[in-house]
Amino acid sequence: MDFAFDARTEELRGKLLAFMDEYVYPAEAVAEEQRAALASPWDTPAVVGELKAEARRQGLWNLFLPDAEHGAGLTNLQYAPLAEITGRSPHLAPTATNCAAPDTGNMEVLAQFADEQQKKQWLEPLLAGEIRSAFAMTEPDVASSDATNITTLIERDGDEYVITGRKWYISGAMNPDCKIFIVMGKTDPDGEDIRRQQSMVLVPRDTPGVTVKRAMQVFGYEDHSHGGHAEVIFDHARVPVSHLIGEEGGGFAIAQARLGPGRIHHCMRLIGMAERAIELMCRRAVSRTAFGKALAQQGVVHNWIADARVTVEQLRLLVLKTAWLMDTVGNKGAHTEIQSIKIATPRAVVDIIDRAIQLHGAGGVSQDFPLAELYASARTLMIADGPDEVHQRSLARRELKKYL
Ligand SMILES: Cc1cc2nc3c(=O)[nH]c(=O)nc-3n(C[C@H](O)[C@H](O)[C@H](O)COP(=O)(O)OP(=O)(O)OC[C@H]3O[C@@H](n4cnc5c(N)ncnc54)[C@H](O)[C@@H]3O)c2cc1C
Repeated sequence: MDFAFDARTEELRGKLLAFMDEYVYPAEAVAEEQRAALASPWDTPAVVGELKAEARRQGLWNLFLPDAEHGAGLTNLQYAPLAEITGRSPHLAPTATNCAAPDTGNMEVLAQFADEQQKKQWLEPLLAGEIRSAFAMTEPDVASSDATNITTLIERDGDEYVITGRKWYISGAMNPDCKIFIVMGKTDPDGEDIRRQQSMVLVPRDTPGVTVKRAMQVFGYEDHSHGGHAEVIFDHARVPVSHLIGEEGGGFAIAQARLGPGRIHHCMRLIGMAERAIELMCRRAVSRTAFGKALAQQGVVHNWIADARVTVEQLRLLVLKTAWLMDTVGNKGAHTEIQSIKIATPRAVVDIIDRAIQLHGAGGVSQDFPLAELYASARTLMIADGPDEVHQRSLARRELKKYL
């Protein structure tokens, strides 16, 4: 078993690490300052555009897309360590490199399932980083971790679909650059097969009947850098039938396909967040003195740092193994591992960031360190993309099946 990264991955890692040091970390404070001076906090600070131009110039662009025609053509195993590096600055680096969720998942859906016209209209500007997108599935009125519950209707009326429903926590939708929603709803609510009732349609933001109503908060944050998480109303919004993605009844299957690689991306970015927390923890521990000695000399701090390092090494191996399995045997063969990383990573990273917060005292929960925001982001990943319990349920059932 060879644990080394290949030459292409090493080359991109080197470039990306230098890009982070030279451009991304210094831009973190600048972005915050610029945002505070903007007419709306949902507009994009100028420094983000500058980072995007520089990343593109350096070839650090669309690294997530395995399709070489549209993206970098990297395997999951090659991209995973790059996602980890961008996770160290999760509010800037993924956007700077055009590798930010939910655009990544949406671009994958379009690359895989859209027709030529849809690709031209929406995939091309997304790949060029000219527009952003959102994925609208979750609804406040039903338990949306079970996608068969979705009630939004997509009704055919002549050459159009009429969309009616209420969605919330739609990431990115507060950003005015978010021009297109991929909406999941039911074209056949009474269909016999509950997994064939759903379809996905493309709904441009400016469609009459679409209202981006409000920004939902995350532990009191509005999450400006991610374009927020909006409540969106679709009130008899009409789109041509040509806006259907794939076939009627194919929504559930597309949703499943969309989530596999995304889980690797999220988990590797989480590992990057944990690395950032460990770095901050160590720097703080050696530079702060309490009761006559550096915090770094306290045994309990040794335990926190050692446990964090062990955990991160374990998680990284599991996520890389999952990426390798997806490349070699496909999403289906990597089912147990994909669920395992989704369960194990956010939980463990939340714990590491929590210790780093503790070590920083009041500073840890303040706006002067990135830890509080990292904590909020990591914690939501125990819910977003499906709550932990849903993955535990399905993993355990597969384990039990062996003994029935
Ligand atoms: C920050 C953030 C960003 C998000 N971004 C998006 C987005 O861009 N687009 C989008 O469509 N959605 C988005 N979501 C929504 C997210 O995908 C849903 O919140 C998630 O799927 C859970 O659905 P729910 O909130 O309706 O919870 P429910 O389905 O009501 O579940 C509530 C709880 O019930 C428990 N539970 C559920 N099923 C089981 C089970 N089988 N066994 C045991 N316990 C169970 C779990 O503890 C779960 O947390 C986002 C959420 C957050 C917090």
